[in-house]
Amino acid sequence: MKYVLVTGGVVSGLGKGVTASSIGLILKACGLRVTSIKIDPYLNTDAGTMSPFEHGEVYVLDDGGEVDLDLGNYERFLDIKLTRDNNITTGKIYQSVIDKERRGDYLGKTVQVVPHITDAIQEWVERVAKIPVDGEEGPADVCVIELGGTIGDIESMPFIEALGQFSYRVGAGNFCLIHVSLVPVLSVVGEQKTKPTQHSVRGLRGLGLAPNILACRSTTALDENVKAKLSQFCHVSAENIITLYDVSNIWHIPLLLRDQKAHEAILKVLNLLSVAGEPCLEEWTSRAELYDMLHERVRIAMVGKYTGLSDSYLSVIKALLHASVAQGKKLIVDWVPACDLEPETAKENPDVYNAAWNLLKAADGVLVPGGFGDRGVQGKILATKYARENRIPFLGICLGMQIAVIEFARSVLGLKDANSTEFDPNTKNPCVIFMPEGSTTHMGGTMRLGSRRTYFQVMDCKSAKLYGNRSFIDERHRHRYEVNPNMVMHLENSGLSFTGKDASGQRMEIVELPNHPYFVGVQFHPEFKSRPGKPSALFLGLIAAACGQLDSVLKEDRFSQKIGTGKGGMSNGLKGRPSLVPFYYRVFPTWFAEYQGHYDAVQSSEYGLVIGSLSKGLVHTRKLDSELLYGTASCILQLRYKL
Ligand code: GLN
Repeated sequence: MKYVLVTGGVVSGLGKGVTASSIGLILKACGLRVTSIKIDPYLNTDAGTMSPFEHGEVYVLDDGGEVDLDLGNYERFLDIKLTRDNNITTGKIYQSVIDKERRGDYLGKTVQVVPHITDAIQEWVERVAKIPVDGEEGPADVCVIELGGTIGDIESMPFIEALGQFSYRVGAGNFCLIHVSLVPVLSVVGEQKTKPTQHSVRGLRGLGLAPNILACRSTTALDENVKAKLSQFCHVSAENIITLYDVSNIWHIPLLLRDQKAHEAILKVLNLLSVAGEPCLEEWTSRAELYDMLHERVRIAMVGKYTGLSDSYLSVIKALLHASVAQGKKLIVDWVPACDLEPETAKENPDVYNAAWNLLKAADGVLVPGGFGDRGVQGKILATKYARENRIPFLGICLGMQIAVIEFARSVLGLKDANSTEFDPNTKNPCVIFMPEGSTTHMGGTMRLGSRRTYFQVMDCKSAKLYGNRSFIDERHRHRYEVNPNMVMHLENSGLSFTGKDASGQRMEIVELPNHPYFVGVQFHPEFKSRPGKPSALFLGLIAAACGQLDSVLKEDRFSQKIGTGKGGMSNGLKGRPSLVPFYYRVFPTWFAEYQGHYDAVQSSEYGLVIGSLSKGLVHTRKLDSELLYGTASCILQLRYKL
């Protein structure tokens, strides 16, 4: 096992997480198997109790781990499935050491930060790095470890000490340290300043860690003389100094690394040059370029509680983005604070109220995300009612689904006090109730967390079709309350359809309004499994419906099942055949319709897009007119994969 440690210097917020994920991605693109560990030096055991407003969203893993949102970046970039142990916190380490102490495992010794905490950190890293996360057997080749915080923080000291010992123990050739730093440009003179980086590298060295590579954040590429200076003062060779200058979207970061040959520098340090190949990032490049060129907009209103900090709903935004790019649309997210839609606000602050309603009314689709507590619930109910009555595409996630059911019960069944017992424990019409999976008396740890299976109840519904007509799906959960099974018949008799349930049939997982263009609520969080190039089915449904393309997507999804591109994208790594064909199919549906799925090759050429059908003995060239070309040209030029 080889290790890449990513540390940060000078200031926080340099995008260390994205840099570390991009490093993982480029190594994976060189044909290596990659896993990752995120170290958060805070005392919380996990992120489950942390406010999304302060810390960004709580990311949920298959095993029910509630972790830092950076793990989401790793899962999305590397297309892997991490475990809760891939997120180390000071709380977890201390807890494990204190548990051991209580068991008497230290045999009467004084238990200390060094060596007991530092040993525990090293053991944890070594153990977790071996867990396979990419669906294959055996440990990965490389583990990317990201150390949260900034060098010099008091909290990270035990980790720095442990990692210093660790690098010595695993030995040169197995450990590569990448230090992400800042090279500010002073506006007065426009000069790139190296001093902050020099200081932070000195700090790092003082703590026993010597960087192999410097990744410098800056607004523009580093001047050669600046690189030379950094090299001289930081003792890092100039070819190992990479600039991460500002780019139009984060998908360009792996490409920046590739263009500056960061992979070669890393592979050299890790003695892997002979086993790794050239990075294969064609599909990734096409997508990054396509993203920049999209111009036709799709507006989604996000009706949430924490609209002040977009990181609070990071995975939802990413999932919307994946779906929009797949549909060839530029995503515009309009943040609508749920409270602002409420009559209270109309009285107190009519301008704010009107602005919120105007945003909602201008949207092509409405999304009500998950949440806890009753603030903004009334506003979410009003937004949902608006989407239902005006036939605006709607996706309700977790609390959003519960809201959809409450709204329906109130407006359609006429149960004026219908509510969730989370908000009104004494409601006479509890359509959402507390349904713990374990004990009904024990309150602690009663959240339903992690991957659970949903079985489709009817195949002729939008969600089943979007999921490719599978009979069941596994998605991640994080909730306590659920639709009251005793009210399901009543709701269904009035037109709501519970199209997905758990194995017992008692837990409602998906709800739809069949007579609406797209009205879907889900108890789970599909956003956590969305990937660039593999958008989540229900987000794709929302975006497609919002652009009036749902019908063609429903057809195309069946199509992509038939041609077996379901496992496309980066998941196949080097060995697979990443395919852009579903994308072309979506953008040019009429062309493909002629072939009814019987074609064997699609390729770009100077004449346009070539579609070949061996079984029909035909090769057709379709000229791309300039309209269509706009926004897709670069993508087409990248298309080199044959089916
Ligand atoms: N508060 C709701 C529950 O606990 C919804 C949770 C969520 O949206 N994640 O069931």
